[in-house]
Amino acid sequence: MLMPEHEVDESDCCGNGCTNCILDNKPKPSRRALLAGKRNVILSYARFKLLSNEAHNGDAQVRMLHFGYAVNDKEYDDSILDIPPGHHVMLRAVLTGHPVPLLRPYSPYWTDFVAKEFKILVKLQPGGPMSEYLAALMPLQVLEFRGPIGNYVHDVSAAKCIYIIAQGVAIAPTLPLVAQVLDNEDDMSRIRHLICAQNLQHVYFRDRLLEFNQYWNYRSCLYLAHQQCSCGSADCNELCEHLQKRLRYKEKARRVRLDVDQLASHVVPGNEAVSIAIIAGHPTFQRAMREQAVSAFGLPEENVFLL
Ligand SMILES: Cc1cc2nc3c(=O)[nH]c(=O)nc-3n(C[C@H](O)[C@H](O)[C@H](O)COP(=O)(O)OP(=O)(O)OC[C@H]3O[C@@H](n4cnc5c(N)ncnc54)[C@H](O)[C@@H]3O)c2cc1C
Repeated sequence: MLMPEHEVDESDCCGNGCTNCILDNKPKPSRRALLAGKRNVILSYARFKLLSNEAHNGDAQVRMLHFGYAVNDKEYDDSILDIPPGHHVMLRAVLTGHPVPLLRPYSPYWTDFVAKEFKILVKLQPGGPMSEYLAALMPLQVLEFRGPIGNYVHDVSAAKCIYIIAQGVAIAPTLPLVAQVLDNEDDMSRIRHLICAQNLQHVYFRDRLLEFNQYWNYRSCLYLAHQQCSCGSADCNELCEHLQKRLRYKEKARRVRLDVDQLASHVVPGNEAVSIAIIAGHPTFQRAMREQAVSAFGLPEENVFLL
């Protein structure tokens, strides 16, 4: 029996234990799509062609993939592409040697509503089947995506204090979350963006963070637990003078792991607004950070969102 277009069943789950599994967060028309009165092309599997596949930060293992909706010539095209900030999409690919299509979730960091294009940042995992497939992908090849999947919705009606914690490539889906606040002059929410990476070389989108740093209501801090220090001094501490010299305008970095004390050092003083925390990264990172954020920021569990 054919399922209705937006229905999901067990076979739509990638089986990776995602925090926001498609079975609990089935793709549905967003408020923005409903207001526009247009069909969101990605609600059921839709074909997107690869427009470009570039290395990020000069690292061949980290790819910026840009996709555009592969519209059928005969299709009457009165549609949009809506992937709200904080939501992910499911990639479905038929790979040689795999009896069933392989499913993997990816989190767009840029979407064009009208042109129906989106971009994802992918860290290729050694030996991973989807990583191998994506590494060899050529421009104009067509892939299938479905979404948006997730449950985070930003409520602009009340100013908030938003703590965003990101690990590695998972900084990518936090960029639209920041942009939606900063792009709205009426949104008085304050953002504290805490980014965990091995070292400075593994901090992605530094230019974008610099742009964000121009706003009064945004502050970021990089946590670089494995940053090597060349000074060799026994006194070198988390603020390492050599590291500070390599930072750009308003960039802040510490040579330690982000923990509950470090989180507490970012609490916005005298803040009466509601606080929330949003955590993006590997599920083990998300779980550990959730506990620490609850303790450091004094948040109820329901104010912590895992992407
Ligand atoms: C909601 C969600 C959103 C995601 N968004 C992105 C994204 O935007 N960009 C992206 O690159 N990946 C993202 N991922 C991970 C992605 O779905 C795949 O798991 C990844 O691309 C590897 O797929 P694979 O088939 O090549 O390897 P797999 O067979 O899935 O994994 C190979 C090995 O790599 C490990 N591994 C997989 N992902 C990670 C990770 N993130 N950190 C450390 N080890 C890992 C696995 O545990 C395994 O040991 C997301 C995952 C989730 C749950």
